[in-house]
Order: sequence, then structure tokens, then C-alpha cells
Amino acid sequence: MLSVTAAETLIQSLVISLAAQDPATAIEQVPLSQAFQRILAQPVISPLDFPHWDNSAMDGYAIRYEDSSKAIGQDSQGLQVTETIAAGVSPQLPLKPGEAARIFTGAILPAGADTIVPQEATERQNDRLYLLKPPARRGDFVRKQGDFCQAGSPLLAAGLRIGSADLSILAAAQCHSIAVYRPLRVAIFSTGNELVPPEYTDPLPPGKIVDSNQIALISAVQRLGAIALPWGIVPDDPHLLKQTIARILPQVDVILSSGGVSVGDYDYIEQILVELGATLAIRSVAVKPGKPLTIATFPHLANAPLYFGLPGNPVSSLVSFWRFVQPALEKMSGLNPLPLVYFKTGYTTQDLESDGQRETYLWGQVEWQEGALAGYWFTPTSGSKSSGNLIHLSQANALAKLAIGERRIAAGSPIALRLL
Ligand code: AMP
Ligand code: MG
Repeated sequence: MLSVTAAETLIQSLVISLAAQDPATAIEQVPLSQAFQRILAQPVISPLDFPHWDNSAMDGYAIRYEDSSKAIGQDSQGLQVTETIAAGVSPQLPLKPGEAARIFTGAILPAGADTIVPQEATERQNDRLYLLKPPARRGDFVRKQGDFCQAGSPLLAAGLRIGSADLSILAAAQCHSIAVYRPLRVAIFSTGNELVPPEYTDPLPPGKIVDSNQIALISAVQRLGAIALPWGIVPDDPHLLKQTIARILPQVDVILSSGGVSVGDYDYIEQILVELGATLAIRSVAVKPGKPLTIATFPHLANAPLYFGLPGNPVSSLVSFWRFVQPALEKMSGLNPLPLVYFKTGYTTQDLESDGQRETYLWGQVEWQEGALAGYWFTPTSGSKSSGNLIHLSQANALAKLAIGERRIAAGSPIALRLL
């Protein structure tokens, strides 16, 4: 049985990023309005200087720094105010010695001006301007052309997930069509004779349960920006399972199934994958919850799909998704750099226990707390810790990790947290 770290490393090595695939099929162009949360596929080189011109950071007056000593206080010579420059217009007059221009935030500095005095630091009488105090230094409150980024230099790197700030940068740089990686296609199905779909309205017959995994996995896949392809419920019938998997394989990047990967009499998935020519990379991982985990590759297929057979227990399937599938989908999607350090240090409000046999994840809620030990404080959810108990997974926003051999972590101690 593989350790979690070994499994994680192996999974990462099996995943082929869209960045390493044929750009003709891996990359698509989208308008800026549809680029949010997509992954940038090509670096963006700035077509412009940022700022585009020397401009004022304040409402105030543009002056020549060397003139400031002549204009301190109302008894001084003061400066002659020549024009008013609003944002969006060009200055009309160069600033000569002894002159100042009224200027507003974002407006272009007139030639000759090198310093802005905020209006609060001035006294104006008709066309004369007096300074209440000298500016701190030449260049005060001036945003110099090209200070933030120069034309021709990199603006955004390929591989980033386009966030709100990135959208504003792309808009400001007049990028109208954005090269992004295509969304991944992830098929999801559930196995089990006991399952009925969530649409089922009749009272549940004895022994039947609702397929609750699929809708959870669909949402988890969609949250990462991939296209989830729900494939329904497949009974524990080797023939049907094989037929279904064979049909899906050429159409997708990833298949996620839940159930049927344990050691029970009806757990057929592994055998079927092998019959379909798969290489089984992982069969189980020393993790709790989620020990049965089947990961297979299909090197003979052109699209090289990756198969994740997740355990059927609802908690196990989601924890396995968060722990193993999500990082794989992130790498495959072209995201770069990857959030490799998924764990953060926090503290536990309660004693945490495990049998120490496998790397153990306890689910619960974290809250940020100020104080002497400022940080994330984790409280495990109440209720049964059974991996079949989906009820107490509600609103879990973190997993606390107990390493192999770590049987007890006392309340108040530091712990490794994976924020969800
Ligand atoms: P299995 O991994 O197929 O042995 O299933 C383990 C447990 O998870 C069994 O109690 C199943 O009934 C349950 N289970 C399997 N698939 C699902 C599903 N899609 N939704 C909810 N529970 C499931
Ligand atoms: Mg089953």
C-alpha cells in the first residue's frame, strides 16, 4: 500500500498538463468577458507602458520642485496658476519657472512639472498658489510613465487562473481575445446495485440509497473549471461496467467513478480496467478515509485518459477527491505554478485522535482567531467519524492531517490543515 506522499508524487507524474499538449487542441481563444477563472495559456506581453504617461496621484497642483522654496506661506512670491488639467485631456501649456497647474487625479503632468502638491497642502488666492509646507521630495505624488510595467515586458504569465485583478489588467492592456486552455472533460459515474438517482421520488425500497456521490463530485469538478459529464449509475454488472467505461474512455480527459473499488464480491472496476488495457498505477493508499483508490492510465489511447476509481463511501469519495483528484485536475488544466503546498499550519481546539495506522484526515471547520496564537483554529465536526456519515461533512471547510504513527494531538497544539 502506497503512502499518501508517494501516491501524490506518482499521480503528479502520470498527469500530462494541457501546457504539454498540442496547442492546436489544448488552447482556445475567448473574449475577455468570458475569461474569468480560465487558465491563461500564453504569456501576455504589455503593449503599453503602465502608467501610460506621467500623471498625478492626487487632486492638487503640478509644480516644478525647485520652485517650491519660493512659494512657502502667504508672504512668499507664490506660483502663478496657468491652467486646469482634468483626467482625460492633454495639458495645453508647458510649465515655466514660477508656474503651477491645477491638476486632478489621473491627469497628465504638463511638460516641465515634476512634483504634485496635494490640494490640502496649498492655499489659493485667485491665480496665486501658496504651499503650506514644502513637498517631501521631487516626484512626490507623481505616477511616472512605465513605473508599474513597461511596454514589451511581461504582464501576465501563462498558467495563472484569471482572477478579478487579472481581468482588470487584461482590460487595461486592451486585450480583447484571450488564449486560455480548453476546459477539461471529466466523466463521472456511480456504481452499485443499491443506488437510485437523486431524481427518484418514491419511498426508497429496502436496501436502496440515493446516489449522493455523483452530484457532489460534479460540483467539485465544476468548481475547478472543468466540464463535468454526468454518466449516471451503472449497476454492479461487469458487462455493463466494461461497456460504459469503454464508451467513455475516448471522449474524456478523466473518468471519476465511485464505488466498486474495494475488495467485496461486487467490486469489479480494477479487473475491468485491466481488461480494457489499462495500466494500474495505484490500487490503495494508506489513508483514512479513502483506502481503496484505483488509479489507472491508458497509454494506448491517443487521448491518454486518466481513471480515478474512488471509494463509494460518501466521505471517502469526497476526501479522496480533495486529496488526490483535485491536484491532478489542477496540473492537467495547465495551472502553473501549482499550489503544491496545500497545507497550512493551524491549531486544534480539541484533542484529535487516530489509530496511527494510516495517514488520517479529520474533517471540520476552521476559523481565523486573533490573539497570542493567532491563526486558523480547527474544530472537528461532531457526530460519527464513519466514512459513511455524510451528514456531518456539511460545511466542513478543512481537513486536519494526522501522520502515520500520530495517535493523538492535544487541544491547543499546532496541526497541518488542508483548507477546502
Ligand atoms: P463500495 O465502495 O461500492 O463498496 O461502497 C461502499 C459504501 O458506499 C457502500 O455502503 C455503498 O452503498 C456506498 N456508496 C457507494 N456508492 C455510493 C454513492 N454513489 N452514493 C452514496 N453512497 C454510495
Ligand atoms: Mg458497491
